[in-house]
Amino acid sequence: MRFEDLNIIEPIIKALKEENYEQPTPIQAKSIPLLLDRNDMLASAQTGTGKTAAFAIPILQHLFNDRKESNHQHRVNALILTPTRELAIQIGESFTTYGKHTGLRNTVIFGGVNQRSQVDALRKGMDVLVATPGRLLDLMDQGYVNLKDIKYFVLDEADRMLDMGFIHDIRKVIAKLPAKRQSLFFSATMPKNIVELSRKILTNPKKVEV
Ligand code: AMP
Repeated sequence: MRFEDLNIIEPIIKALKEENYEQPTPIQAKSIPLLLDRNDMLASAQTGTGKTAAFAIPILQHLFNDRKESNHQHRVNALILTPTRELAIQIGESFTTYGKHTGLRNTVIFGGVNQRSQVDALRKGMDVLVATPGRLLDLMDQGYVNLKDIKYFVLDEADRMLDMGFIHDIRKVIAKLPAKRQSLFFSATMPKNIVELSRKILTNPKKVEV
């Protein structure tokens, strides 16, 4: 199996070659076709399996193909929610790496630091927003982020989010998302409360396990 066999667009293939990725990992091989077909997805996958590229590649491809106008506005169309600052930064770097030939932009926001540079970044516009839940809600309350144009939503490390007490924050964010969207739900484990949460977020999800 090669990335070319997954119908990935040339600007992304080029970036993957530059990263010396030779072939898709199992989760990438399973997920990418389902996500390019615009299915919702419930995936049980640990960090280290290549799950970030499994969601970042199809989202970048959709955004690239959706982008019709020449004066592209960089309105936030994709939201990735993740529990920690470290994960948020890594995911942002992955979008930057895989998307470097697409002209798409990402911004990363997380708590525990002054918000000023994050607000400056938000004002410049972005296609993909990677966020931890508390800081996202804070900046939404202050009017710096609006989720009305979100078409792609990823909840990453859902079990860890719940362990960290983010359930109310997650519910508040979900309430602000447009109903018409593609949603992806990643969790290392699938206890009952996680499956229940996934039902509130996903529509007819394809299930992927690795
Ligand atoms: P993740 O599970 O998303 O945290 O990714 C784990 C590591 O695998 C990261 O350092 C990625 O850069 C790397 N990686 C992801 N996909 C591939 C691939 N297809 N080939 C080689 N390395 C990869």
